[in-house]
Amino acid sequence: MTKRPPVEDVTADDLQVSKPKDWAAGVPGIAQAMGPAFKDTGVSRSMKGLLAMNQKDGFDCMSCAWEDPPDRKTFEFCENGAKAFNWEATPVLVPREFWAENSIDDLLEKTDYWLGLQGRLTEPVYKPVGSNHYEPISWERAFEILAQELNALDSPNQAAFYTSGRTANETAFVYQLFVRAFGTNNLPDCSNMCHESTGAAMGETVGVGKSTVHYRDFEKADLIIIMGQNPGTNHPRMLTALEDAKKNGAKIVAVNPMPEAGLKRYKNPQTARGLIGHGTDLADQFLQVKMAGDMALLQALSKRVLDAEAAHPGTVLDQEFIDKYCEGLEAFREHLASLDEQRVLEATGLTSAEIDELAERYMSSERVIITWAMGLTQHEWAVPTIKEIINLLLLRGNMGRPGAGASPIRGHSNVQGDRTMGIWEKMPPKFLDALEKEFEFTVPRDDGVDAVGAIRAMRDGDITVFVALGGNLVKAVSDTVVAESAMQNTHLTVQISTKLNRSHAVVGESAMILPVLGRSEIDMQASGEQFVTVEDTVAAIHASKGNLTPVAPTLLSEISVVTRLARAVLGDKVPVDWAHFEHNYDSIRRHIGHVVPGCDDFNLKVRAPGGFDLPHGPRDTRTFPTKTGKAMITVNELKTVTVPPGRLLMQSLRSHDQFNTTIYSNNDRYRGVKNGRHVVFVNPDDLAELGIADGSYVDIHSEWTDGVDRVAPKFRVISYPTARGCAATYFPETNVLVPLDHTAKVSNTPVSKSIVVRLEPVAA
Ligand code: SF4
Repeated sequence: MTKRPPVEDVTADDLQVSKPKDWAAGVPGIAQAMGPAFKDTGVSRSMKGLLAMNQKDGFDCMSCAWEDPPDRKTFEFCENGAKAFNWEATPVLVPREFWAENSIDDLLEKTDYWLGLQGRLTEPVYKPVGSNHYEPISWERAFEILAQELNALDSPNQAAFYTSGRTANETAFVYQLFVRAFGTNNLPDCSNMCHESTGAAMGETVGVGKSTVHYRDFEKADLIIIMGQNPGTNHPRMLTALEDAKKNGAKIVAVNPMPEAGLKRYKNPQTARGLIGHGTDLADQFLQVKMAGDMALLQALSKRVLDAEAAHPGTVLDQEFIDKYCEGLEAFREHLASLDEQRVLEATGLTSAEIDELAERYMSSERVIITWAMGLTQHEWAVPTIKEIINLLLLRGNMGRPGAGASPIRGHSNVQGDRTMGIWEKMPPKFLDALEKEFEFTVPRDDGVDAVGAIRAMRDGDITVFVALGGNLVKAVSDTVVAESAMQNTHLTVQISTKLNRSHAVVGESAMILPVLGRSEIDMQASGEQFVTVEDTVAAIHASKGNLTPVAPTLLSEISVVTRLARAVLGDKVPVDWAHFEHNYDSIRRHIGHVVPGCDDFNLKVRAPGGFDLPHGPRDTRTFPTKTGKAMITVNELKTVTVPPGRLLMQSLRSHDQFNTTIYSNNDRYRGVKNGRHVVFVNPDDLAELGIADGSYVDIHSEWTDGVDRVAPKFRVISYPTARGCAATYFPETNVLVPLDHTAKVSNTPVSKSIVVRLEPVAA
């Protein structure tokens, strides 16, 4: 059985490849930030919006979740933040004729890039059963249809309600409230596909699945280890924090299979040195680890720490911290005593000297931060790998003190806040109890489905209605062919969106699109202008208030859509004043304050300039709300991936001109790629060994235990200095290669960073 992607995004004939860059941002960053915004959105709308972006009284960037610094500059955004703003704020509108001119079949032939370029959605549209077209309908009719459809289900569990990380706290709270009042915990979200592994690992070991550092800790650190993360593209303003840390004497170590520009040198566009000078060299050491070798590396580092302590007792470990706050050291020591160094070297592709150097740096640094992102979370053994980060940090007390800690970096602006607000298919009983007490209805207790589970259930006919509050699930999730046919196997799909993407074309028997305001737009309700709140990657919550005139008067806010949907579906089934929620978002925040830990006096605290930090036991007081009340040093059996001869281990990653599934252009400036995305980066020595020429074309086949031949056809080979044995392609084009059932243990996150592939040459 062969599975190919349903749409082959055309690689332009004029694909150009040049040398990868060894620095990030600088003048080109400014040009890329401002040029498209001025051209597409207009100078005055762009300036008005961009000057408010990430300001204390402005709106939060809709792109990544990087935290805002305590003191804001006039331009407090990066190139990619500006691209995200421009993508949303564009005054280009999808015209009414579009729906008659383009059938669903036509839309299925288009790329995500083309779909996004059609502009902002402005009116609800509906595709009835049997029709091949969406057609405009009124908001009233839209809610009427949805109420009929949802109430006609045999069980609430036949519906799933997806959330993307752009959703604000208040929206997320009312959405999960509606879904639970409807009767299900089927709340899959994009977190299932990104940092779920982090939550699982940190939840078990330190009791909180969030970063244990504040923004200001970066400038206090002596050593920052960046693992499986590419801040230059995915969290660009982090480079400024790293630059500040370097100025204060910190060392930076990058651990990554790819030598990314943003890990090497930063030309800060806000400084003269960055604009016309050399910029700041970032990584003092680059460990080009093989994919899936991080767990072996971390165990090897911890073993060196323990060996050094054995050689010089009382000088290396933070014994006082361990005695008081941790448990599990002896079992860990015993486990690592038999660690096979040769296996470590094979798994990591590193030398002992390289690992020694990092171990020395670690042991000679008082304050250490380790950051990570998808490069660590999307592996089969991601959860134990992240537990090994915690082990390493705990050995020297690098948690709960200034300049030190574990810092998972979230990739979407409010993905962390959505989880805090209850978007999770398995929220803990404590949260559900509080919800039940506050709203006086019986909250369902059975776990719902996550993203992969939702696809399986749609494929099997167990879920027949799919509602998405933002996002592009069929593109984001693994096994594209299966995901799309699962979505098409439903009775009804509903997208609550600002712009078109693939998930609006891959529809059920019937389908609906509900257009909403963007984050940069003014949200006017009965009680006046509203604001919402978001939580960044270091658990700081702050307000976000759009300042631009909405592109169309017909748009509703996401909160209006959710509350009106709730009223239409539930009537007076539960004692919730949905209309009041819509009219005044303070009323939502009042309830959040009663239900969500740390959000008491929410309305007061979010009105403080810059917002407030959520309480965080491990960070604030070295309190660890684990099962034992202590931080857990854990024993994890070393897992490595064996790649058969003639095969490579492939990861999918983002280009510099994209945000998650949103493609801003077909270029990737830092990696030297222009006008194309169907490329595969392979080490030149691997190419020589495989007998494949740089610039030739290959079909990429993935190999997994189910024997299905998954194929991503016709990719151009680029000789690239990635780690030996490893290849890279762009996400989401190669999601087709990731089996739906190949997920990380415990977290069920698709393993998009360790796919065994073979390359088969094809004609150009
Ligand atoms: S670093 Fe992230 S949040 Fe900040 S402006 Fe850039 S994309 Fe937006």
